[in-house]
Amino acid sequence: MFPVRVPLAAVLLTASLLTGSGRTSGTDPEPAAAAPSTTAEAPKTQIPTRSPDWVSDRLKEVDAKIATEIDNLVALYRHIHTNPELSLAEVKTAARLAEEMKKLGFDVTEKVGGTGVVCVLKNGPGPVVLLRTDIDALPIIERTGVHYASQVRTKDRFGNSVGVMHACGHDIHMSSWVGTARVLASMKDKWSGTLVFIAQPAEEIGAGARMMLEDGLYKRFPKPDFALALHSDPHQPAGVVSFTEGLALANADTVDLLVKGKGGHGAAPQATIDPIVLAARIILDLQTIVSRETNPLDPVVVTVGSIHGGTKHNIIPNEVKLQLTVRTTKTETRDRVLKAINRIAKAAAQGALAPAPEFRVNLEEYTPATFNDVTLARKTGEVLKQAIGAANVKGRPPMMGAEDFGRYSQGGIPAFIYFLGSIPQEKYEAARKPGGPLLPGMHTDAYAPIPEPTIRVGVRTECLAILNLLGK
Ligand code: ZN
Ligand code: ZN
Repeated sequence: MFPVRVPLAAVLLTASLLTGSGRTSGTDPEPAAAAPSTTAEAPKTQIPTRSPDWVSDRLKEVDAKIATEIDNLVALYRHIHTNPELSLAEVKTAARLAEEMKKLGFDVTEKVGGTGVVCVLKNGPGPVVLLRTDIDALPIIERTGVHYASQVRTKDRFGNSVGVMHACGHDIHMSSWVGTARVLASMKDKWSGTLVFIAQPAEEIGAGARMMLEDGLYKRFPKPDFALALHSDPHQPAGVVSFTEGLALANADTVDLLVKGKGGHGAAPQATIDPIVLAARIILDLQTIVSRETNPLDPVVVTVGSIHGGTKHNIIPNEVKLQLTVRTTKTETRDRVLKAINRIAKAAAQGALAPAPEFRVNLEEYTPATFNDVTLARKTGEVLKQAIGAANVKGRPPMMGAEDFGRYSQGGIPAFIYFLGSIPQEKYEAARKPGGPLLPGMHTDAYAPIPEPTIRVGVRTECLAILNLLGK
């Protein structure tokens, strides 16, 4: 989740490809974002309303099973945390999850969309519920100081030496997912339907959900009536969950801009076209897309996350590379902003008598906005309130972060992702005091979720969310 900076196979787009219906790259531009579920329409499969007695009865059984599993789940969490793997390289992680699920009687298929794993448990007639965990880690050197911290160093896909860390909590997601599978497999007399538990690779590069879907997730396996997921939350204490109705997360695009000039000696700038000065001008000009061209009530982010050019103090280079992340929440705004980036870069180059810059939108890394189905979100929220207390179930505003989970709603499948508080209560309280310490966010080298009770709450809430849909 959040920044996506490393281009996969980039798709070269010119401005004309981004106008009207002119996309000719052959990849899908925005399948999920085009169909937001912002009103409370009932999903095709009805969701029952549960009584407090029904919830407390199911919860008792769930808690009893968790009590026998929690030590093992925390150990599994630590193992996964110590052994993280980068996007598209999640081989051992996927194998471990497959092994766990086979033991529980799930029908397990590996290598779906790269290293993805699909685990199916059929248990009589009823709806099909998909529960997704993501499994990849990030190229970050861990500095949490926990005794099970990752020491892993590796080469990324581009040959760079990097550390590897579960800095987005996907290890919390995996252990909760395994825990939920164990609990539900142990109480098959209490539900009827089909579980499709998927372990998705490459979330951090916005590719895994698309890869699994393209590899037949909805054709080779039971097609879900509902899709669920959770994401760990570095800003809420363990015990609290939160969610958004409707729009939850933004469209994310990655853009590469190659700013071209004419290199030469640093002491003779008059004989060159300096792409470093030009790139600096473009970066400042891009700020006006948000501040001057966009309605202040329509959220947009244009961030230049990387700038590379030149080799030495006294050489003016030929070119400068910029990498951008662009966040929007509407399809028309997305198209307008991407076009504006190209227009502004071209105009600046023209003003400097420089060649036109190369502008690439990496459609393979595009992540469409995530919409929580309103009915599913509300119904699940009601059950979670009964299960963990109304004060511990909070609303949250949409974020400009991105998640490829939104792709699972393709074809109108009601989908729901919620956030799982993951830090100790005392740290949360300390941070809330004026001048208190800042909490490390997702994707930082200091983000250290507290495994217990975070995983316990993850399993409780996932189990109740699923039992609500499949329960007898
Ligand atoms: Zn992330
Ligand atoms: Zn994440």
